[in-house]
Amino acid sequence: METTHQVLSLSYTVVRKNKKNISIKIDEKGKVIINAPYHISYKSIEEVVKNKMPWILKNVNIVKERMGNVKFRDTKQGKKILWLGKHLKLERYIVDTRKWYIKIFKNNFVIYGSKTLLEDEESIRDVIYKFYREKAKLIFKHKVDVYSKKLNVCPRNITVRCQKTLWGSCYSNGNINLNCRLLMAPIQIIEYIIVHELCHLVYMNHSKDYWKLVECEIPDYVNRREWLKNNGYMLVFPMRFKGGIYI
Ligand SMILES: [Zn+2]
Repeated sequence: METTHQVLSLSYTVVRKNKKNISIKIDEKGKVIINAPYHISYKSIEEVVKNKMPWILKNVNIVKERMGNVKFRDTKQGKKILWLGKHLKLERYIVDTRKWYIKIFKNNFVIYGSKTLLEDEESIRDVIYKFYREKAKLIFKHKVDVYSKKLNVCPRNITVRCQKTLWGSCYSNGNINLNCRLLMAPIQIIEYIIVHELCHLVYMNHSKDYWKLVECEIPDYVNRREWLKNNGYMLVFPMRFKGGIYI
């Protein structure tokens, strides 16, 4: 059961659950959700919300600020697009060709293509997505080769995926998945994730020995891991608009 409430200027949703304690959650859009056991009264819930108000407001602001920071929301001319840690200016040029191509000059990310393609937001998104996937295969492969030699490991297969949350994964059969969204991050971050996954071919865990091995290749891995934790939300493709919602 879900109900909406208001205290001062803050509105929040109470979701009744079969649980022992009240917990507060702020979703990715900044909505405040209170999960509460059935037996606790709305009055008591309101008390908890009031007591936690500074914490709630602080975190709602963080989420809203983050939403505002995400520049790569649509594909309009002159918008910014993240490429290897840099915000490039997105430009479109109509050319008399059936096949599209993309070139990166200094601070510009230029899409060349037919008029029909460049006027369609959906096609532009697909083209950008394909470009990142293609480049990810090349750039990741090169880095995997370099670090595999250094670590003396032999990954079996590298697959490029575009997942929402997972940056990379490694399986005991030697297969490694890497997220093509990483191409929006600085190259040092890509290197960290690749080393992270390759080290799992030696240790299939996050033990002390495992982190020691990561540290041998990436002495400042803690900073890089933090960077991804704090900035990962910015590394997103333009959203698709389907059935009235962005997905
Ligand atoms: Zn890991």
